[in-house]
Parts: sequence; structure tokens; C-alpha cells
Amino acid sequence: MVDLHNHTKLCNHASGEVREYCMRAIEKGMKIYGFSDHAPMTFEPEYRMRFEEMALYEGWVNEAKKDFTNKLELYLGYEVDFGEGFLDDRVLQADVDYFIGSIHFIQGWGFDNPAYLAKYQECDPDTTWREYFSLVEQMANTKLFHIIGHLDLLKVYNFFPHTEMVKLALNALDAIKESGMAIEINTAGLRKPVGELYPSLTLIQEALKKEIPLTLGSDAHAPEHVGVGYEQALGLLHKLGVKKVAYFSKKELKYASIA
Ligand code: ZN
Ligand code: FE
Ligand code: FE
Ligand code: ZN
Repeated sequence: MVDLHNHTKLCNHASGEVREYCMRAIEKGMKIYGFSDHAPMTFEPEYRMRFEEMALYEGWVNEAKKDFTNKLELYLGYEVDFGEGFLDDRVLQADVDYFIGSIHFIQGWGFDNPAYLAKYQECDPDTTWREYFSLVEQMANTKLFHIIGHLDLLKVYNFFPHTEMVKLALNALDAIKESGMAIEINTAGLRKPVGELYPSLTLIQEALKKEIPLTLGSDAHAPEHVGVGYEQALGLLHKLGVKKVAYFSKKELKYASIA
């Protein structure tokens, strides 16, 4: 079992030690497990590690690789925000297994942050979703990332477009296919107001039609989040005939069987 999206307390909005996440992962039957904490950036620095903490973070994960040899195949990543002025060479040049590229901001609005909920009142659903998927497309076009994080995160507070989502996402999906990125099935949506997996079924089906690799992540912000919702995610993948999921080792795409 694969889980590539997990945070650490360094991002200031997650709890638990790296070792506790790893122990939980083993309990949950994970074999391939990755940390992808929020990479530092100068925008809203309070929700992420500082640049000076990257070495500490990477040290924790590398230490755990040794401590859990034979029990867990551990991988090192970052969840990187894409947007104007967000990318930083100190992150992009880090010696990682993979980067998860995520959109959490539309023109500086942190739309998944409960502190900024009021802004939804001013947003036209279709316009905002178009803008969101255009950012996803631009992100894929940079070819800097390996996994697209929570592809339809904008639905987190039940904000849905009027137009079919899959239509709005087509250009983004083409760009993702072209970039060689994988799309993660992220179970965190199940514990958020929207109460469903990211991304929605129609997007997963379209990704499969385009033969875009799929991967899996808990997006755990606490050890007890690890593996929550995996029965549902794996059940869906089995139903869709998916027999393998992607992961990245030193930025190289690999597959693990889930059959
Ligand atoms: Zn987070
Ligand atoms: Fe995220
Ligand atoms: Fe995350
Ligand atoms: Zn995330």
C-alpha cells in the first residue's frame, strides 16, 4: 500500500513526530510511505516550515529511513504551492524523491483555509473553478512536479461549479498527462466538509481514460489520519479496475501493485 502525502509538525498546523506517523503507517499496512510537508515560501510563512528548517525536516525523514528499514519504504518529498512568487530554488533544488504540486491560493486567497471562508460569497463558481484549473494547468506545464495534490480541492467547502467539473478540467488534465505527473487519490476530503475523496469520480475516470498514473495519499496532519479512508479509496480503485498505483523514487516513476 502506498501513501505519499503526509505532513509533520514543522508546518505549524500538524501534530505528531515523524516516528509516530511511521508507526501508524506500519499498523495500517503501508509499504511505501512518503513525507511531503509544506515547503517553505515567503507568502503566509506561518503555515509552513521555514527555509532554515528544511535540513531538519530532511534529516528526520532520512533518520526514519534507517530506523524503519525492512518495515517501511520511506520517501522524501515536499508539497509545493504553485503561484506567482511562490517557487524558490532552495526548494526546487532539494534532493527529494518527488514534489507534490498543489494549488491552495487563487490570487492570494487561501480558499481551503477556514479563516477566509467569507470570500466564497463574492465568487462566481464557474469563473473561480476556471481560474483554479488554469492554475493547475500552468503548474503542470512547468514540469517541475511529480504529483498533483488534491486535484479538485476547491470543492472542500462544498463550492461546486455549475458546469460539469470534468469539462472545466480538460485542459488541466491534458497538461498533466503531457507532464508525466501522477494524480493522487487524496483521502483527506473525507474528513472535510465536502466529505468525499479528492478528486471526484468523474475526474478519476477521465484521468484513467487519458492513462494518467494514479497514486494515493492520506494528507495526514496527525498520525491518526494515516490510512483513514483507504478502504473507500482502494474499493473505488478496484471497482475501476486499477491494479497498480504510482510512486516516485528519486523522481523516477514506479508502480506498486494494489491487486
Ligand atoms: Zn497542511
Ligand atoms: Fe494541500
Ligand atoms: Fe497536504
Ligand atoms: Zn494537502
